[in-house]
Amino acid sequence: MLDLDKKAALASKLQKKPWVSLGHFPTPLEPLTRILPEASGNNLFLKRDDCSGLGLGGNKVRQLEYYLGDALAMGCDTVLSTGAVQSNYMRTLAAASAKLGLECHVQLESRVSTEDPDYLYSGNVLLNKMFGANLYSYAEGEDECGADAELAKIAERLEQKGRKPYIVPLAPVDEPKGALGYVSAAVELAAQCQQIELQPDLIVVPSGSSLTHAGLLTGCRAMGWQVPMLGACVRRQAELQRPRVVDTCEKLEVMLDLGKVVQPDDIWVNDIALAPGYGRASRAVLDAISLMSKKEGILVDPVYSGKTISCTLQLLENQALDNFRNIVLIHTGGTPAIFAYREQLSSI
Ligand SMILES: *Cc1c(COP(=O)(O)O)cnc(C)c1O
Repeated sequence: MLDLDKKAALASKLQKKPWVSLGHFPTPLEPLTRILPEASGNNLFLKRDDCSGLGLGGNKVRQLEYYLGDALAMGCDTVLSTGAVQSNYMRTLAAASAKLGLECHVQLESRVSTEDPDYLYSGNVLLNKMFGANLYSYAEGEDECGADAELAKIAERLEQKGRKPYIVPLAPVDEPKGALGYVSAAVELAAQCQQIELQPDLIVVPSGSSLTHAGLLTGCRAMGWQVPMLGACVRRQAELQRPRVVDTCEKLEVMLDLGKVVQPDDIWVNDIALAPGYGRASRAVLDAISLMSKKEGILVDPVYSGKTISCTLQLLENQALDNFRNIVLIHTGGTPAIFAYREQLSSI
């Protein structure tokens, strides 16, 4: 179980990292009472990181508290990043930049091939514009290196004009500082569970860049909390996702000087809800979105949180989670993207 000395030691290590306050924390932890049949032996709880405050919320708020804390500590006045057209990261970065008075440049990559005007102009794209970000587009959606190189060129041009740019990375880097936001979330969640005397038997989290999954997992293990954690793949298949999570955990162990706290067996990823691919939802995912909205009054998106719920529901259905009575799901947000999927979602 949780070791309170280790928890305090972890919290004090986090306090030494550059950080800036952006969101509303702690986010609520609440029971989900209506989506499972009454006879179900499982209890579901939802950690509402969709309610993290800034610019319609989500998990990027915690991650940006560390990246932008670093940017400010380095004296930067301009931030840049590159992501999918409907990226929540880019929207949250745009909102955070507005709040902190930073100039924001965002490159949007075409990862989902579509001509749908809702996808191309509504949801997060609309919000980027409202938050005053400078937008660029990059035609290739699955060329991480190419997109990063193009972004570096934009940064160079800004530097020549006298700006001090800071690039917020999405591709793997030596120091995935954003993941510290979820190490910190592990401390927050542990305190909340203690407060309501909840002993989770499983935590379920979406696994994309892996910053959220690896941050939370490393945070739990650093406190001696051995709760199992399942990463629902939202971006790539399990066998490709697993090494990403391993890599981020190892980097966090170094950044926080923890020694080896995450064991290979701790890393559990499942891609049952990924198909037909990034940013596209199967019937099962649409059903999960429908269930959450109609039975709980809670919105989940087709890209991330809907897939996380669907992954959990499918595994429950397959009786693969019978040993895990109390399950905490992390709602990482993404709700603005709902408006980009108007056509698909209006008939669920
Ligand atoms: C980015 C994102 C994720 C994935 O988180 P990673 O830290 O990249 O793994 C999950 N949910 C939402 C809503 C997101 O925007």
